[in-house]
Amino acid sequence: MQNFEGKILINGAWQTPDSGETLPVIDPSDGSEYGRIARGSAVDIERAVLSAQNAVDGEWGKLIPVERGRLLQKLSVLILLHEDELTEMEARDVGKPLRQARMDVKACARYFEFYGGAADKVHGETIPYLDGYTVLTFREPHGVTGHVIPWNYPLQIIGRTVGGALTMGNACVLKPGEEASQTALMVGELATQAGFPPGVFNIVTGLGEEAGDVLINHSGVHHLSFTGSTEVGALVQQAAAKNAVPVTLELGGKSPQVVFSDADLDKALPFLVNASIQNCGQTCSAASRVLVEQSIYENLTLRLAEEFTLLQAGPAFRDLDCGPLISPEQQVRLEKYLEQAKADGLNFAAEGEIVYDAPSGGNYVKPMLIRDVPPDHVVAQVELFGPVLAVMPFQDEDEAVELANGTPFGLVSGIWTKDGARQFRMAKKLKSGQVFINNYGAGGGVELPFGGVKLSGHGREKGFEALYGFSVTKTIAIQHGK
Ligand code: NAD
Repeated sequence: MQNFEGKILINGAWQTPDSGETLPVIDPSDGSEYGRIARGSAVDIERAVLSAQNAVDGEWGKLIPVERGRLLQKLSVLILLHEDELTEMEARDVGKPLRQARMDVKACARYFEFYGGAADKVHGETIPYLDGYTVLTFREPHGVTGHVIPWNYPLQIIGRTVGGALTMGNACVLKPGEEASQTALMVGELATQAGFPPGVFNIVTGLGEEAGDVLINHSGVHHLSFTGSTEVGALVQQAAAKNAVPVTLELGGKSPQVVFSDADLDKALPFLVNASIQNCGQTCSAASRVLVEQSIYENLTLRLAEEFTLLQAGPAFRDLDCGPLISPEQQVRLEKYLEQAKADGLNFAAEGEIVYDAPSGGNYVKPMLIRDVPPDHVVAQVELFGPVLAVMPFQDEDEAVELANGTPFGLVSGIWTKDGARQFRMAKKLKSGQVFINNYGAGGGVELPFGGVKLSGHGREKGFEALYGFSVTKTIAIQHGK
């Protein structure tokens, strides 16, 4: 295995960044520095984009789809062969409990398996047109695709975004989140071992305002895929507009789960808890609001409180309910919101614990349940990115819809009811990219199109549908006479 400490991956080779500089890799479980990543800059992005373009113009661009698909599937196998190693890397780098990190490794492998299998199944169309004509459409790659991703789910997001782009024959330049880049580098190494031609998958680590900014503004990039905050998403959209390139924005959320009085509460309860605390609440599709029909409000709130009291936060390798937050800055941000909630007199119904021997350098917060949250309070409106669940009552279906849709976001919604007609009524009225009925999958499965409406973004990744976004239609009209 290559040592990629302080290195970037360009044209299939590990290289030193132009700056010669590195950035620290911090373990959020104890605050210690345990490695260095390269501080990529404009020169590195320039070289990465050029090498991706050369790949598109060279061997990679000539491969038939089934051959591309086989490479993706080989990468999937290699990821699974390194499951334990990747699990530990992701757990340490992000501060994720081990079993959550393991799920991410499996999901990453599954993306490359799914997309590998799809590579030779994307068809064009024939279109009825004028007499004496035949019209065909082809789906062609954009060329060079730029991928800027966050730190919270590196493996899963690489699988869905790079996996989809490579399937359609694009060549990628990836800028991972500076807080957690380790597994991205490892997947890059495994892609090289799988036999992807040089330049197909380039990785430049570094800061958002440096490497990220140059990548999104680069005129040699033909499609941008961004996952991250709504604020940076707006910058990416502006950069895309300047170069007139398509962009997919996977941004934040404040997702609701709506629980009606006829719901199976035993079944719902673990979903309500887990969807709010998974990855310590640092999940775009975390269901951080639970809306409960008035007649079962006291009962369900008490049951949720019992569950929250049992939750434990501690080091990733202890594999508890929650790990640490990613950084001291995130911890300070969250604590400010919680202080405001206390000052405003909000009702803290229950809290979990931080295990007594958690290292003092880790960014730990207690899981929190806050009840009776006013719908316009920041706790009900802002993506807190911590293990905090806001509970609020509703009187009827109309109010449930109004509350559920009453934030600037629209990523995922959950509905819990046995009434089939209500399930469909609600699902059609909720403004979100995904709706789960009597279940909730933060982020959904590999096969399911995923993405937001409103400030949660636009465009879809995951599933077969993503492949349309990672390609462009060419129409060929042939006049051949009658
Ligand atoms: P962020 O927007 O701060 O950073 C995301 C990426 O953008 C990082 O790689 C960062 O280096 C880069 N970046 C920062 N400034 C940049 C700039 N000026 N130009 C170019 N790139 C820049 O987000 P974050 O804090 O890393 O991640 C958390 C956010 O991501 C949350 O809002 C979360 O909801 C969202 N997210 C969304 C999804 C989704 O699929 N919808 C998935 C995961 C996370």
